[in-house]
Amino acid sequence: MSKSASGTLEQKGKNFKAKSGLNKSILDQGWSMMMNMLEHKQAWKGGLLLKVNPQYTSQTCNKCGHVAKENRQTQAKFECVECGYVANADIKAACNILAVGHTVLSVERMR
Ligand SMILES: [Zn+2]
Repeated sequence: MSKSASGTLEQKGKNFKAKSGLNKSILDQGWSMMMNMLEHKQAWKGGLLLKVNPQYTSQTCNKCGHVAKENRQTQAKFECVECGYVANADIKAACNILAVGHTVLSVERMR
């Protein structure tokens, strides 16, 4: 449904702009629906859903804290240019997101 409009970069397909806007709306709606379901399920089970800013979590080394775009060499591989730590980029980013969530919760408890 969200397939790109046909055509090339130089010669865009028919209704390219409209299709692009429609694709964005469909994909945005998908994330919104997923977040609503997660909130509903967590509330139902007595859990907690905390939204954190994922910015730079895939570029941050969770061993030394060095942040660099070059740390993420490919979609799957993370290698810190500072300390040499190597990990799966998605798993490492998930660990960083979890750490950000724990930090947010601990700061909120101190208030
Ligand atoms: Zn490092």
